[in-house]
Amino acid sequence: MNKASEILIVGAGPAGCSVALCLSQMGISSTLVDKEKFPRDKICGDALSGKAVEVLNKLDKTYVSELNRDAHFLGSWGVSFVAPNGERLRVPFRTKKENAMPPGFLAKRVDFDNYLFQKVKASPLVNILEETEIRQYRREGNEIAAETIDGKTIRAKIVVACDGAYSSFSKSIAGLTTEPAHNCFGLRAYYEGVQELDNENFIELHFIKDMLPGYFWIFPLPNGQANVGAGIRADKLTDKKINLKKAFEKVVHENERIAPRFANAKRSGDVKLFGLPLGSKKRKLSGSNYLLCGDAAQLIDPFTGEGIGNAMMSGWFAAQQIQRCMESNNFTEKFMAQYDKELYHRLWSELQLSYRMQQLVNYPSLFNFVVKKANNNPVLSETISCMFEDLDMRSRLKDPLFYFKLLFS
Ligand SMILES: Cc1cc2nc3c(=O)[nH]c(=O)nc-3n(C[C@H](O)[C@H](O)[C@H](O)COP(=O)(O)OP(=O)(O)OC[C@H]3O[C@@H](n4cnc5c(N)ncnc54)[C@H](O)[C@@H]3O)c2cc1C
Repeated sequence: MNKASEILIVGAGPAGCSVALCLSQMGISSTLVDKEKFPRDKICGDALSGKAVEVLNKLDKTYVSELNRDAHFLGSWGVSFVAPNGERLRVPFRTKKENAMPPGFLAKRVDFDNYLFQKVKASPLVNILEETEIRQYRREGNEIAAETIDGKTIRAKIVVACDGAYSSFSKSIAGLTTEPAHNCFGLRAYYEGVQELDNENFIELHFIKDMLPGYFWIFPLPNGQANVGAGIRADKLTDKKINLKKAFEKVVHENERIAPRFANAKRSGDVKLFGLPLGSKKRKLSGSNYLLCGDAAQLIDPFTGEGIGNAMMSGWFAAQQIQRCMESNNFTEKFMAQYDKELYHRLWSELQLSYRMQQLVNYPSLFNFVVKKANNNPVLSETISCMFEDLDMRSRLKDPLFYFKLLFS
């Protein structure tokens, strides 16, 4: 059976579902395919940042309060940074929290992705094809033809590639490559019984000497579970000859601060590894008849490793572009480039800043120093907190004067 569809979205993760939901709101129909059957797992730290919440609010004002009532979701109020010397800095995501929804959430991806997927499924404007894997693409006149592994062809005026970190579309049609200096490897395991989880569900980032410039994380989940993992840039992994799985096990079993917390913990399932394409370099995200979103567009925050929010944000911008294309019947490379412009306008300064912060982690003593200072200085600690609410505050970090003032304040 050969099918024609104006808009084909490949991949029903946060990027693909955001495109489909936003198009539905605009009254534009689409076909959404995924090789898996939902609910499906995705290797991740399971932390939904403020940006994911921002896009959820753009999609539908009721979603966030739904998540807040759902037992599969845990509201998260902040982040703890643990410096290489073990000193901890607790940074709330928001300075005030009266009557407010949590600024972030923690939920297993199997649950969050299925939540979004069910919202898409409820839309009459989205034709969903699960267990449909696209094997290859080819250009046919003014369309792109996507061939499934069982030999069917779906032709589309626009393909939106949301097929994740190992996107075949990005490689074969858009020509994106994976560069070790702009790519990270991360692994994740689920545990029960980890001691001393934060009572306000702060996520914990531990900057451990043997893993720098990467980090080890412990993120609380509903029902006393925890998502525990580690990530490091691909080139550093090779240069420093780190075996990430062994380094991870060593922290869990031997690190003097971490291991006691795992004394009675039980792991459920395996430790699983996956790639994180970082947004530390600008790429070309569109071409004639296509747009790249989420991990397929290599948009993960190079400091925190967060990609869900950027995936959803790119999905939202992609839908705006598609609307313009449909209105003007223009699918050319030049016209599509408006998407790159708008998306990077929203994300680029943030990505650049995170890239600088990633480089800062290479200097453990500077990290130790900032944490110590912030703990002794309420104004500084509040400043860092405000950085999570206000990007302009974060940009202070790239100003050398900021460190100078810190030293002498
Ligand atoms: C270890 C680790 C920890 C992370 N922790 C966090 C975190 O805590 N917070 C955060 O915000 N981000 C985190 N990330 C990043 C985050 O997981 C990604 O940025 C996010 O999943 C990107 O969403 P996406 O929709 O682009 O891709 P995905 O979520 O990967 O979805 C892609 C979809 O495409 C489908 N697909 C792939 N190929 C095909 C094909 N050929 N045909 C049809 N369908 C296909 C897949 O089945 C999948 O459903 C982490 C990543 C890793 C690896």
